[in-house]
Amino acid sequence: MSEIIKTKALVVRATRWQESSKIVTFFTETEGLVKLIVRGALRNKSPLAGKLETLSEVCVVFYRKDTRSLQLLKELDMTEPHHKLRTDYGRYPFALAILELISAVLEDGHKDAVFFNFVMEMISAVEKSARPAGVLIFFMLKLTSYLGFKAEFTQCHGGKHPACLKEHNIFSLNEGKRVCTECYRQGGLMERFDRDELIYLQNLQKSHYRRIHSSEYHHREWKPIIGKLLRYINLQMETHIALRSLEMIL
Ligand SMILES: [Zn+2]
Repeated sequence: MSEIIKTKALVVRATRWQESSKIVTFFTETEGLVKLIVRGALRNKSPLAGKLETLSEVCVVFYRKDTRSLQLLKELDMTEPHHKLRTDYGRYPFALAILELISAVLEDGHKDAVFFNFVMEMISAVEKSARPAGVLIFFMLKLTSYLGFKAEFTQCHGGKHPACLKEHNIFSLNEGKRVCTECYRQGGLMERFDRDELIYLQNLQKSHYRRIHSSEYHHREWKPIIGKLLRYINLQMETHIALRSLEMIL
């Protein structure tokens, strides 16, 4: 017996499968990450042509059988192709990086409609914002909270408060906390953050996701910040996410 599921979804990636078909990974509103076989997707005159591009927002109907790891697509309707975003190389890599993070950290079967809608909001913020790198950094901060290891940048956790330094703080990747160089004791994996970076990250953490596309907070050196947050996520999740999509602009 298979069940018919209808849900909003985002195309994560598509790979060729057999003669004329594709296997497409969708991030769905009701089922989390799902891999669907799309029969005939590569045939000439396929009604699906152009609808399976990464980042397309679609509505999918599929047959689900719990005994299979690959499910079968029944119908697909495009709701938002994101043409502009996909051809804007100053923005596209940041949207891809969001997808790369989701597909690496979410487990199969993890369902959360609220998180799905948050991700859709982030993709649209990358499309609209004058600072798409900032949207990705905001997303990474929120992702660490969502996954249960929120990074703490507000104050030094070293305990020697009267002596605490405001400059040159160290962030413990193991603990997810900031320690000033006065309180710092050797041990564990660390990253250095300067004062501007810490202020920027604190401001982003306090921002509302629906307003992040018009946020005035800005840090010119976004690459090292993304690198440090990525090492934090990789250590906490025991993953090796490389964010290859960003290599296009690095
Ligand atoms: Zn301190």
